[in-house]
Formats: sequence, structure tokens, C-alpha cells
Amino acid sequence: MSARVLVVDDIEQNRKLLQDKLKNEYFHVITAVDGQDAIDKALAEEPDVILMDVMMPKLNGVEACRQLKMDPRTEHIPIVLVTALNEREDRLRGLGAGADDFLTKPVNDLHLLSRVRALTKYKMVADELRKREASGKRIGVIDAVTSGRASEPARILVVDENERQARRICRYLEGLHRPISHSEAAQLGISGSMVDLMIVSLSNEKLDGLRLCAYFRSMESTRDLPIIVVAEPDDEKKAVRALDLGASDIVIKPIDSEELSARVKTQVRKKRYLDALRARLDQSMELAVTDQLTGLHNRRYMRVQLEQFVKRANMGGQQVSILLADIDHFKKINDIHGHSAGDDVLREFGRRLRENIRPIDLACRYGGEEFVIIMPETTQALAQAAGERIRHLIEESPFLIGRGDHLRVTMSGGVATVIAPDDGVDALIKRADEALYRAKGNGRNAIEVENMGVG
Ligand code: GH3
Ligand code: MG
Ligand code: MG
Repeated sequence: MSARVLVVDDIEQNRKLLQDKLKNEYFHVITAVDGQDAIDKALAEEPDVILMDVMMPKLNGVEACRQLKMDPRTEHIPIVLVTALNEREDRLRGLGAGADDFLTKPVNDLHLLSRVRALTKYKMVADELRKREASGKRIGVIDAVTSGRASEPARILVVDENERQARRICRYLEGLHRPISHSEAAQLGISGSMVDLMIVSLSNEKLDGLRLCAYFRSMESTRDLPIIVVAEPDDEKKAVRALDLGASDIVIKPIDSEELSARVKTQVRKKRYLDALRARLDQSMELAVTDQLTGLHNRRYMRVQLEQFVKRANMGGQQVSILLADIDHFKKINDIHGHSAGDDVLREFGRRLRENIRPIDLACRYGGEEFVIIMPETTQALAQAAGERIRHLIEESPFLIGRGDHLRVTMSGGVATVIAPDDGVDALIKRADEALYRAKGNGRNAIEVENMGVG
């Protein structure tokens, strides 16, 4: 899918010029005629990148940029400010407003395309993560995470073989961040995967900047690591090549300390946004498979797993058994000691299960005070023995509840084993449940095995 670029300029000729260049490279182009129009189009069209002229009537580009970056609906869209003057003041003001990059008019084709490409790549990663996020309240939460960490100092690795230059860059960043030169980092054993950002000189001989960009992009642990390359003013080709290889931004020598700080800030903000998205995604995936009270797998996860095991056993694979365990007279515990004591018992029960099964077994909370343990590669006799062992370790030592009371807890269990070739999850659980029912009927604190060949 080609990226959608919003081109904002009050002069039609300028819009047309950029539009043509981008269309030649198969970008989909939308246009807006001033700052306010840009905001409206950004909301309506959700572009992947915005190229924004600075000097425009009504709402100028810097102000429009500030507003877009403050709105959670548009803050993630990268913005490149296009300015007629290569003015330091303008650049700093724009970066302060949250702009992601700059281009100067007349716009250099190579610069234009490589920057648009680098920014769309970032946007695609962020979009993919946002899409995979399960819940609808996404941005608010991420916002809270990122704003909390936004002011934290970033760990920055400076890779410049010229020690004096490396130290100078570190000095520029020291107030706000924790920069470290690569020679220090090497002594401390710090690598790219342990930092928030890298600054790489393209003038290096041994630690070739282009090679480093390609390398860090190809590694799983550093794929999202922002890399700012430092280029000589007369080596534009190399700088553009670095962007193509995945560098996030370019700083041209002589380095302006304020500009460097602003660019570092933008990159760190992006990195943290991606980190927060990933963390939240991991968390929501974990929530989807874990029972919150006991930390065991939940019923849904259990079903998905058990279906796979049953299928394999049906096809002639290893035997699979399950134990359905139910706490005896649990209702009484709630009634006498209170619901929260009941919860304590469930948590401790879950802990004892988890710590006393084999690594390949899966312990799941099936419902209220019912648990299922899936035992792969386990015959019925072995499953019964495992059931007895678990029953014993529940019974043998009392459960600690509330503020120090001890409670004797027992459980009953039913064991069933997959009967190939056409067993099913529901049938298997039903047989285990019937066995459990017999254990309850026989006075509880017992393990029963399914009735083979009956029914
Ligand atoms: P039996 O020995 O026959 O299994 O009797 P029981 O009391 O254990 O079984 P019953 O099914 O009658 O009661 C289960 C109780 O578990 C009822 C329900 O309120 C309670 N329960 C279910 N989920 C939770 C929970 O998350 N926390 C607490 N504290 N209680 C729960
Ligand atoms: Mg019970
Ligand atoms: Mg029950």
C-alpha cells in the first residue's frame, strides 16, 4: 500500500510541484491551502505524513503543527515543515512545536523522498501496533504512559571515532540526557539494545555509519532504535543513503547544540510512543489469556490449547489427560470467613498448582473454584497419580487467609484421557466432570478416574 501524503501550501504552484514529485514515486497526495485546512484534512483523511509550508495566511505552519501535535487524534502523524528560509530560528520554533523534520525550498528531490519514506516507515510501524491493540481507549492510556516518561533522561550512545567530537556531542546533551561515547560504552559493555537513541557519525572509518544503520535496523532488538546520523555538509549523498538504510534523522556539521537537542527530543518521544504501544499490546495480550485472580491461564486459553492437544492425540499423537479439580465446600469458606478470604484461598490454590506441575503441564482456572490441569504425554494412570499428589499437597498444609488465620482446605478431582481417534474437548471435560461428581459423592477429598467403556 502506498503512503498518503498531505501537502499544505497557500501557493498553488508550490503544491503542484510537490504533488508531481510525490506522484512520480507513487505516493497518494492530498492537498490543503492553509493551516486550518490542513487540520481539517488531517482529521478527515488521516494522512501518513504531512508536508507543511511555514508561511501561510490565517494559520501559519508552525501553529498548525503545534495544534496537530496537541490533538491525540493527529499527534502521531509525522510533520515535515517546508520553509523558504534556511533559518535557524524557524527550525527551532518548528521543532519546539513538535515538527518531525524540515525541508528547505527549493525542495531537493532526494531529501524529499528519503525523508517522506523514513517517516512513513515509522508511521506504518506505529499504525500496525495501534491496530493490533485490542481496546478502544488506546490513545488516552498511551498518552499517560508517554507523558509520564517524556521528561525522563534518555540513554544516548554516541558513535564517533573522533573522541573530541564525541565528547562535544555528549556535553551538549548532558543536561537533559545520559549520553555515553562508544569507547566508554565498550568498556561498560553497553550495546545498542540497551539505549534509547544512537548518534552515529558518517565520517567514521572503522565503525562505518551506513553499515551500523543497516545492522541495527536488521536486528530484532534494535529495529525501532532511533538513529541520528551526523553528516559533513558536503556529503549529502551519504546522508540520504543513511536515511534510506533506516536512519531516523540527519544533523549536518557544524552541529548546532539547540537543534541537536530538539531533534533528540523528537526521536526520543517517538521511541517512547512505540515502546508504550508495544508494552500495552503485550499487556492486553496477556490479559486475554490470564486469569486475573490466580495468574493461571483462563478458560478461553485453556480451550484453545486443549483443542490442539485433543486433535493431535486423535491423529495418533501422544496421549493427553486432564484433571478437573474442585475445592471442597468452598461456599462455606466464603460464608464463614468472607469473600476476600475466599479469594486468598483461590490465589494460594492457584500457586500450589502452578508450582507443583511439570513445565509442559498447563494449569488453568476453569471457573469459580474449579481448575483444569492439562497434562500432555500422560497416560491415565500417571494422571491419576499426579492428581493424588496434588490432592495431597492441598490437604497437607493449611491455607493462610486474611490476617493470619489458617484454614484446612481439600479438593476433589476427576481424571479423563483422550480416547482416539474421535474424542472432543467437550466430551473429555464431561467425562472428567462425571468422575469429579463421583469423588464428591464418595465423601470428597478424593480423585476419581473416568469410567472407561461406559456411555
Ligand atoms: P463442593 O464441595 O460440592 O464443590 O461445594 P462448594 O461449596 O465448593 O461448591 P459450590 O459450587 O456450591 O460453591 C462455589 C462457590 O464459589 C460459590 C461462589 O460464590 C464461589 N465463588 C466463585 N467464584 C469466586 C471467586 O472468584 N471468589 C470467591 N471468593 N468465591 C467465588
Ligand atoms: Mg467446590
Ligand atoms: Mg464447583
